[in-house]
Amino acid sequence: MSDCIFCKIISKEIPANVIYEDEKILAFHDLSPVAPQHVLIIPKVHIDNMNGITEESGEVVAHIFTKVKEISKQLGINDSGYRIVSNCGVEGGQTVGHLHFHLAGGRQMQWPPG
Ligand code: AMP
Ligand code: ZN
Repeated sequence: MSDCIFCKIISKEIPANVIYEDEKILAFHDLSPVAPQHVLIIPKVHIDNMNGITEESGEVVAHIFTKVKEISKQLGINDSGYRIVSNCGVEGGQTVGHLHFHLAGGRQMQWPPG
């Protein structure tokens, strides 16, 4: 997607503070962190949001979740705990139209979310 900012981060057209990368996914620090540690984990293939996940593309989503343990360890929040959030659509609060999982931690999370 030519006008997608996360696709531009993947292609290195836009810089990001990348903390993990492999052939399928990328993790980078959120520009406006909502917690002491806040990164976004995204598939390298463009998927609009959770509604765009298929049996086929679901593999990359599974891959993201197998890497959360490693990425959370890198951030030093694996033991203390963390939260994964994916906002979907307008009422879900999604502002960037490329599937992403927020990984946030380093403080006590509250429930319910706003
Ligand atoms: P959401 O609102 O759930 O769609 O999340 C989008 C997230 O992307 C927000 O937390 C933004 O702060 C973050 N964001 C937007 N642009 C960038 C960027 N260029 N680099 C890093 N994070 C970004
Ligand atoms: Zn994209």
